[in-house]
Amino acid sequence: MSAGHDVLPDPGVLPLPGAAATSLGMADRITEAILRNELSLVFQPQADVATGRLCGFEALVRWRLADGTEIPPDLFVPVAEASDAIFVLGEWVLRRACSTAARWLRTGMADVPVAVNVSARQLAEPGLARCVLGILAETGLPASNLKLELTETALLDGSAAVTQCLLELRGAGVQAVLDDFGTGYSSLALLRRVPLEGVKIDRQFVQAMVEQRDSAAIVHAVVSLAHALGLRVVAEGVETRDQLLFLRAYGCDRIQGYLLSRPLAEADVPGFIREIGAPPTA
Ligand code: C2E
Ligand code: CA
Ligand code: CA
Ligand code: CA
Repeated sequence: MSAGHDVLPDPGVLPLPGAAATSLGMADRITEAILRNELSLVFQPQADVATGRLCGFEALVRWRLADGTEIPPDLFVPVAEASDAIFVLGEWVLRRACSTAARWLRTGMADVPVAVNVSARQLAEPGLARCVLGILAETGLPASNLKLELTETALLDGSAAVTQCLLELRGAGVQAVLDDFGTGYSSLALLRRVPLEGVKIDRQFVQAMVEQRDSAAIVHAVVSLAHALGLRVVAEGVETRDQLLFLRAYGCDRIQGYLLSRPLAEADVPGFIREIGAPPTA
């Protein structure tokens, strides 16, 4: 093992983007990490702007090595996405998120949807709908308690097959939202073509909004456009009361961010729910 002062993990383990060799064997490393119990999920609450009530959680993956080093998802998710590891990782995240949400539901703790990030490569794979529905059946989570967060790239890539997959999932009751809205080549046609429940405004707009008129105009316009198309709007990265006041004035439906809560370890979710009051029952 490494010396005590080493803050970085073994270079063979740290998946640095750009170094092609590190992508090789990534699938094995992710599988190993799962077997060694190094992966976990944290859950970040979302609240309804009008009522202040809890209305869902986003599941976010964490990788903590045995020596305590945390590898940030921004580092290893893209590397996993460059290899088949994303399928192993993606399925693990889905299964863990669904089984956790199913337990919250069974124990009467929370009956709110959990949102799971789905990568472009997962969405492009023909088996995704079957995989998702299989995991719902296995964990006993109702389809309406799962949401998928998809990026624009993922939706642009797949066209007809992706739309078909999302229609099948929506038919079964699983909703999809468009993540990081505004950061990609936002195509307005996409919002009409793809069956979506809502859009998530990326935190870069939310955080620039109070100081920059342009960002404020974008956020306002996105909310209006989404509503005109019958879509819900979640703002992510909400850190201040001022940001919340702007979002409320624009009619944004839901917020997620440090103002409400940091992403929580599973064990801290019950305490959070007690603190903010009982969640709405469906
Ligand atoms: P994302 O989907 O845009 O997730 C939101 C990120 O913003 C999370 O970072 C979250 O911790 C962070 N965040 C939440 N509230 C605030 C806030 O008020 N202020 C600031 N500054 N940040 C906030 P995280 O957990 O580091 O995840 C980074 C990205 O990694 C995610 O961005 C997502 O693209 C990816 N990711 C995370 N978990 C998964 C996963 O299970 N599957 C896939 N495919 N991607 C994942
Ligand atoms: Ca997300
Ligand atoms: Ca984002
Ligand atoms: Ca993202």
